[in-house]
Amino acid sequence: MPTKYIFFTGGVVSSVGKGVTAAALGRLLKERGFAVAVQKLDPYINVDPGTMSPYQHGEVFVLDDGAETDLDLGHYERFIDIRLNRVCNTTTGQVYAEVISKERRGDYLGGTIQVIPHITNEIKRRVGLVAKTTGAEIVIIEVGGTVGDIESLPFLEALRQLRNDVGRENTMFIHVTWLPYIGATSELKTKPTQHSVAEVRSIGIAPDMIVARSDYPMDEGLRDKIALFCDVDKKAVVPMVTTNVLYEVPLLLEKLGMAEFVLRRLGLEARQKPDWSEWQNLVQEVRRQKPKVSVGLVGKYVELHDAYMSVREALTHAALHLGVELDLHWIHSVEVEKGKHWDEIQSVDGILVPGGFGARGIEGKIQAAKHARENNVPYLGLCLGMQLMVVEFARHIYMNEEANSTEFDRNTTHPVIDLMPEQQSITDMGGTMRLGLYPCHLVPGTKAAAAYGENVVQERHRHRFEFNNAYREIYEENGMVFSGLSPDGRLVEIAELRDHPFMLASQFHPEFLSRPNRPHPLFVAFMRAVCERASVPYRKSGKISSEG
Ligand code: GLN
Repeated sequence: MPTKYIFFTGGVVSSVGKGVTAAALGRLLKERGFAVAVQKLDPYINVDPGTMSPYQHGEVFVLDDGAETDLDLGHYERFIDIRLNRVCNTTTGQVYAEVISKERRGDYLGGTIQVIPHITNEIKRRVGLVAKTTGAEIVIIEVGGTVGDIESLPFLEALRQLRNDVGRENTMFIHVTWLPYIGATSELKTKPTQHSVAEVRSIGIAPDMIVARSDYPMDEGLRDKIALFCDVDKKAVVPMVTTNVLYEVPLLLEKLGMAEFVLRRLGLEARQKPDWSEWQNLVQEVRRQKPKVSVGLVGKYVELHDAYMSVREALTHAALHLGVELDLHWIHSVEVEKGKHWDEIQSVDGILVPGGFGARGIEGKIQAAKHARENNVPYLGLCLGMQLMVVEFARHIYMNEEANSTEFDRNTTHPVIDLMPEQQSITDMGGTMRLGLYPCHLVPGTKAAAAYGENVVQERHRHRFEFNNAYREIYEENGMVFSGLSPDGRLVEIAELRDHPFMLASQFHPEFLSRPNRPHPLFVAFMRAVCERASVPYRKSGKISSEG
């Protein structure tokens, strides 16, 4: 069959769940037996979000091949349970960089380079690469931003052209909008939706489907009205009311018949009946009253929860798996340094220190790690969270506050975390870290090996600094166990404390590979220790069944 393309555009406002909707539709199609991939087109000029502040952009999601991507890729991978690659996040920066380097090489000698056709051709080439590199039969493409933004115009124009290139029967446009609620008259308003559909039409794109997001249920009359004014079939108006259970979205879209409409529109027939039993159990489990356990996430971007999207999801997956409710405390590391939030740190059943860059707030995280070590509180460190666990331990061994990572103190007397030799000469900041999937050998008899139940695992990385091997012996003598190593034994991938219920940290980012129905082993092991600390009974069998 020819590759089918589903394009998602957004109208009215951003942040109404376009990414989640696209991801959920992907799941609906996968459940019907199709190979699905998703691509995000981001209109900003950065080559990738790797150099952006999490305050600007939220989390940077890392793929197997080391691509640093938009956090929506995390939704795609988690909802559809797929692994994506570099071409699945294309930015304006990448498109222009490619075209300009070709121009310098002389590929267009004699020509004038223009947005149409040169930029739009490059966009189309990248869209085409998704099916080629992933083997997907249906490619879902989400255009970032909102229709009407200057930046997204070349993308929309390219997709409009693509519709003609590959045939209307192989493409469809879905427009996701927002219906504001007017309290004074208690009604939802469709006018902004009408305007934004008019805007897409003005650039030659007629949406085949409208996903109308709102905080309140929509009546039939309103659905009729949107169908009429936006010139779509009534069945193609999908009223998507906000839900507080993220993973319920595929079930809601299923009920609304979204997949049937999409398949019919693309001339496809379902190859199998979807089986939602796992998802239904999952959602039921989310809603069930469960015993609570608390975890403190000590980070410096905690005001913006999106900055730790995958970490929060991975904790949630593990908690659901164990049949407990995660009570997540967002604790600001900078304030911890100022002596604040200590009652909270002392009250939580587990402490997680996530990844991060730069010196701000690190002393607060080190203090939190110290508290966990001294009081037998379960601790999970992710990347920077591992490096700081190591620093804290050095300060304890040497009785010397100077021990540090050279990221924060170049001249420290004890550089226990240091730049990798390969990193010493690198000056460019973008895309130059140790990125993507690397193998890690587990040391038998350790907590890490027990958690995984395997000898070798592959995990995603994003860092410049590493454990400094000059210190291995003295750490081991003092009770630190290096339980995960690179195949040549040179790089420390996982460290854990011997004389502690659970103080374990990884140089990689396990959170990126956690799935709602397949929680990550390290998160499960951590949450189990948290339950034990809290004396909360947890499910030992693992599989979530309808009986709970
Ligand atoms: N800043 C640290 C490094 O570059 C940790 C990075 C991270 O936590 N992702 O190695």
